[in-house]
Amino acid sequence: FMTIGRIFDLSVQSYPNQEALVEPAKGIRWTYKQWEEQVNKTANAFLANGVTKGDCVSAFLYNSSEFATAYFACAKIGAIFNPINFRLKEREVSYILQDASPKVVLFEQAVAATVETLAEKFTSISFWCIDGETPAFATSYHEHIAKAIDQPIFITVEESDYCSIMYTSGTTGHPKGVLHRHREMAEHSLICTYYLKYSRDTVGLVTAPLYHCGELHAGILPRVHVGAKNVILHQFETKQVLNTIQEEGITTFFAAPTMWNMLLQEDITRYKLDTMKIGIYGGAAMAPSLVKECKERLHIDLVQIYGMTEMGPVVSFLVEEDQLTKAGSAGKACFNHEIRIVKPNEEGVSEPDDVLAPYEVGEIIMRGPCMMAAYHNRAEATTKATYKGWYHSGDLGYMDRDGYLFVADRVDDMVISGGVNIYPREIEDFLHSHEDVLDVAVLGEPDKLWGERVVAVVVKKNPNLTAEELDAYCKGTNGIADYKRPRQYIFMEELPRNASGKLQKFVLRQMFTTTVK
Ligand code: AMP
Ligand code: MG
Repeated sequence: FMTIGRIFDLSVQSYPNQEALVEPAKGIRWTYKQWEEQVNKTANAFLANGVTKGDCVSAFLYNSSEFATAYFACAKIGAIFNPINFRLKEREVSYILQDASPKVVLFEQAVAATVETLAEKFTSISFWCIDGETPAFATSYHEHIAKAIDQPIFITVEESDYCSIMYTSGTTGHPKGVLHRHREMAEHSLICTYYLKYSRDTVGLVTAPLYHCGELHAGILPRVHVGAKNVILHQFETKQVLNTIQEEGITTFFAAPTMWNMLLQEDITRYKLDTMKIGIYGGAAMAPSLVKECKERLHIDLVQIYGMTEMGPVVSFLVEEDQLTKAGSAGKACFNHEIRIVKPNEEGVSEPDDVLAPYEVGEIIMRGPCMMAAYHNRAEATTKATYKGWYHSGDLGYMDRDGYLFVADRVDDMVISGGVNIYPREIEDFLHSHEDVLDVAVLGEPDKLWGERVVAVVVKKNPNLTAEELDAYCKGTNGIADYKRPRQYIFMEELPRNASGKLQKFVLRQMFTTTVK
């Protein structure tokens, strides 16, 4: 049987003295054996405080060794691990605590102000502080660990037990809690070890937020699976990432496209980065021009991942060999998975068997062994999202003749101008290829004549860049069709993105599309 706890135990058996977990900021360097001791103590501390199998434990934390340790401790006692985005505000966290009803919430000073008010409201939850001086409303995580017995855990956890509940970054309405079982994540982990080429020599940097299922389930877990090392940074910061690659001999890490873009703005020649083998990107579209720049300037192999929390998250990989020949694609479905492009009917429902021809844009649906068990407390949403056994992603895309997936946009982001569908991603990728553009978002603005017209929001790399210059670039012979050409440019210092690098177009829409022109 395969559970997350057993994956951990077996790696401790096989690689007891191999370095497993490093957190430079806290001076932590644990071997698998030493990490196991921490995991067992944490598990015993949870048990001693009334957490039993099936209970939920939340981690409202930035990246830390405590985060990774709590994840495996929960897995061992069959508790459901619930990471919470550290950027969320009190109202949002309150919703999640209400919905997931955890017994214990781990938190840190950086979010203590938010937790304080929550502690008044949720009196039956124990709040455990992992750093600094423990506030009056909480108890100290490290004191719990110091008191805990150091003994193995003998609780039977089944493959079909839930291992995690992760709330998706919905753009509208309340977030939904995605429930996964051990079996799904164990299988997902194996898939990641294969495509991301993890081995016991891998030194993985954890810099993307751990609260997102990608870093946990495609990063830490599969690296533990093969006895590799994880090096944890509190959060993404370009100079710190570059320094850590140099100091720890990092061989691989995941970063969202916007983070890769930020790294390339640094003077990378000043760092020794030659231990780096594979750069992983995904979570949002990455412009082919940026992929090319990463390859050329960092001299690394790249692998793209595409997926969503509901699928574990990864469903397709664009491998190194295809980076340039299939530029812009999200790759092929990984083994044991299927991806289809289907046509939604008038009610927005896509029949899994109404498969579209190559290059026709439709909804991306998929199925595979790592699909979520359900959305917690949301039977109707679950039925709709998993209609006929396929996960309906709400992403638009197409397949080329060779079965490579191209992700166009979210259904809601498509622009319809003069009755013609326009996919912002295509225009974003094009504008990104202009050397003076650092970042760009394309959206539709209401237009009396055309229904919508294309607007580009641009972050300049070169301060001398003008709207006229970009317009001429679009009109050039290697430009884009006239109907796709932005009719307006708005310049910003920075685009609104969430912590996993996803563009928050709804924020831009609220800012710019309030008036019909
Ligand atoms: P989340 O559930 O937070 O992981 O968000 C999943 C969404 O991120 C997907 O439905 C896509 O819209 C987007 N996404 C993830 N990976 C990629 C990728 N490689 N290319 C384009 N969009 C992506
Ligand atoms: Mg989602």
